[in-house]
Amino acid sequence: MNYSVKIFFWLLIASLFVGCVGPDRSNELVVIDAGHGGHDSGAYSGGKKEKDLVLQITKKLYKELRRKGYKVAFTRNTDIFLKLGQRTKIADHKDAKVFISIHANAIANKNRFNAVEGVETYFLQKTRDERSQRIAMRENASVLQGTDKLSQDVIVDAVLAGPKVIHSHKLAIDVQKGMIRNLKGRYPDVKNGGAKPGPFYILVGASRPSILIEVGYLTNPKERQRLFTSDYQKRIAKGIAEGVGNYLDNRKQQQGF
Ligand SMILES: [Zn+2]
Repeated sequence: MNYSVKIFFWLLIASLFVGCVGPDRSNELVVIDAGHGGHDSGAYSGGKKEKDLVLQITKKLYKELRRKGYKVAFTRNTDIFLKLGQRTKIADHKDAKVFISIHANAIANKNRFNAVEGVETYFLQKTRDERSQRIAMRENASVLQGTDKLSQDVIVDAVLAGPKVIHSHKLAIDVQKGMIRNLKGRYPDVKNGGAKPGPFYILVGASRPSILIEVGYLTNPKERQRLFTSDYQKRIAKGIAEGVGNYLDNRKQQQGF
């Protein structure tokens, strides 16, 4: 064999090997955050609590991410309340690549309970969209206690000045796609609410690409019923893990390592 044929041969063997064992992700940490907890139940509808649902999904997400080879850290894996600072401190672990916060949605208007449904993924960005602002206000209520409006604005502006927003947006798109793809396999009528900007304070302190997922509406009877089934939860978890995988693999390729 001449030299170039030999090189080609070894590259072929190497690529087959990588294809079999998959990429090494053992030094890539994903922080997963089940929203609310303890005295803070989050949304509540039809006898079901947001804090319980998001913990169930987060535990499934842990398994899916581990299966892909990632290191994974929980902010909470029991029913406890964490202050904003405690959550983001865990998210800012030096190895953390991304921060994923999981929530469920609700609306106040009872006449619209059957009409409003769907899966949405948010990244931190100010927006004029009233719906996004309303959802953020509900999610922010418990984490913002004791912080005045001026310092809230200062923190958001500091975050938005950094390059993180573009990456968080990309991550949100990949994760939203992954969830919708997996859910549509069995639930073709699932509503794709898209990847959107929103002023969510849980995303402020984490200095990594960070997203907040609203897995569905507890106030919608059909969606609530699905959300508490193991199959639906597994599809969401699998979709999130695939989205995180796509995002991090693309980023590694772009950075050339
Ligand atoms: Zn929430």
